[in-house]
Amino acid sequence: MPDSRLLLQDAPNKRALLLGNEAIARGILEAGISVVTTYPGTPASEIADSISEIAAEAGVYMEYSINEMVAVEVAAATANCGVRSLSAMKHVGLNVAADALMTLAYMGVKGGCVIVTADDPECYSSQNEQDNRFYALLANLPCLEPSNAQEAKDMTVSAVEISEKLELPVLLRTTTRVSHTRGPVTYGKLTKPSLKGEFVRDIKRMNLVPANSRPMHTVLLTKAEKAKEISETSPYNTIVRRSKSGKLGVISASAAFNYAMEAIDALDLDASILKLGMTHPLPEKLIGTFLRKHKKIVVVEELEPYLEMQIKAIAKDYAPNVKIYGKMGTLYFPRDGELSTRAVVIGLAKITRRKLPIDLKEIDRKYAEVLKDLPRRPPILCAGCPHRATFYVIRKATDGKAVYPNDIGCYALGFAPPLSIGDGFLCMGSSVSMAQGISKVTGRDTIGIIGDSTFFHAAIPGLINAVYNNHKITLAVLDNQATAMTGHQPHPGTGVTGMGVPTEKVLIEKVAEGCGVKFVRVVDPFKVKEATAVLKEALQHSGPSVVVFRSPCALMVVRDRRRKGAKIMVCKITEECTNCMACIKLLGCPALVLVDGKASINETLCIGCGLCASVCPYQAIKCEEIG
Ligand code: SF4
Ligand code: SF4
Repeated sequence: MPDSRLLLQDAPNKRALLLGNEAIARGILEAGISVVTTYPGTPASEIADSISEIAAEAGVYMEYSINEMVAVEVAAATANCGVRSLSAMKHVGLNVAADALMTLAYMGVKGGCVIVTADDPECYSSQNEQDNRFYALLANLPCLEPSNAQEAKDMTVSAVEISEKLELPVLLRTTTRVSHTRGPVTYGKLTKPSLKGEFVRDIKRMNLVPANSRPMHTVLLTKAEKAKEISETSPYNTIVRRSKSGKLGVISASAAFNYAMEAIDALDLDASILKLGMTHPLPEKLIGTFLRKHKKIVVVEELEPYLEMQIKAIAKDYAPNVKIYGKMGTLYFPRDGELSTRAVVIGLAKITRRKLPIDLKEIDRKYAEVLKDLPRRPPILCAGCPHRATFYVIRKATDGKAVYPNDIGCYALGFAPPLSIGDGFLCMGSSVSMAQGISKVTGRDTIGIIGDSTFFHAAIPGLINAVYNNHKITLAVLDNQATAMTGHQPHPGTGVTGMGVPTEKVLIEKVAEGCGVKFVRVVDPFKVKEATAVLKEALQHSGPSVVVFRSPCALMVVRDRRRKGAKIMVCKITEECTNCMACIKLLGCPALVLVDGKASINETLCIGCGLCASVCPYQAIKCEEIG
């Protein structure tokens, strides 16, 4: 990530090359958004991370909230004091925040409030590929969808303006391809943020008991009508190309728009193109008129047929005879996975009965040929990762015979051989709750596996449930002192805020004790013997037990040592090695490799955690400081 301070330049018309997420961060500064909240999650993380680095200098308050619901509630409250706010999260994060969001739509806001949902088609780093445009439909909220970095910045500013005009939160929906693609962005003016808000008591609007909710629902529907008017004239909903013949019209939005443009050009089609940037509510009249002017309409969109469904409904009133092609009925474009120019070319070629412009079979053949020679890189825990030690301890203590519901974070990778610890997860915090169901009906030893950030995010109610109902489970909290998977953001257990200010550490073991857990221990996973004994004891406990495996993320350890100029540890295999392969077979550390059929350590990867030394039955691995 480039220096976030570049985002602070008050230089209108300057052009910068920014990631989509950095462009949103710049939009935050141009819009005068003063409060930014988030729970980190790919592909949204860089929005708040960029702001975190410059928050104090920019005069913005930024926080890594404990979870997405809290993040939205804080943002909603500040916006209701007239202070502009933004809350950023990944798509599944919006499920966590949905309880607040649905009612926030009724309550409305006074200052602008933007909720960013970064969706993940193809599940690059997520457990599903839900299409969050449906949240806008469900909650009756305006939704803007950028197709590139410039729009990501501009739409952040527009979203605030629309939010204030309608007194409604506005969804800004990106996808990985927009969030993580770098593109040119022309800066606008910075707006000075203001953290001074005023709370004006407004019981009828804000105290949503049923008697107040009913009229607020009507208010929401009135605002939704006004949003339609905004959508009709929005500069983001526009015909970007007109066909000569008027036969073919293409409607598209977001990253899919880029694929549609490339595919139309590749097939040399004479097509009009309606680009939608405000995708809820849709500009009904604009779309209706577009439908009337064409014989065939192709809807190009990623994931669900969200636009197609609504466009078909609009067609009933405006142009009942127009043929609409997309994903409903005959499937011209895939409904799962990330869209691509290739997929759009194939679909459009079928619809227009054109020959494919290139020989795709030949490309596939060449690709398969290259793929053969490329080394496979399965996702794997880093060399020296403390989770590997924890998984080894768990396997040793249970002989692999327990059930291990796991959770969301780096440690989800523990399911892979040779460690094979991890039996499935649903969502953040599900390990502790799933463990209870499994232990109840199977009577087997059950160990929920969860990380530190996830523990704070979503495990505490589940843990209280285990105490209250006396479920015999063990919760292993893998505390590596960071929200490591998304970029080492802080959380309540790390003792530092998103503003970089030292703060009170919330200790997991104290929380567990406070929840009423009677057996709570903290261990160092690299002290294998001791940790194994503690875990065995925990499994004997008659009710819920918690074992915190605490050791910092290996990447942080190396980074901190390098920054301090301290020595780095590495381990070496000595002559005592019998080549029994125990180290390789038991641990799966990427630094342990075979060289000419012999166990060996790749010293550029090894960080000297010493775990392999502790499992070698012949004491053939020696560790020392270098550098
Ligand atoms: S000491 Fe052993 S287990 Fe640890 S990183 Fe090095 S090779 Fe891997
Ligand atoms: S466990 Fe020890 S003896 Fe066996 S291969 Fe590894 S280093 Fe050699």
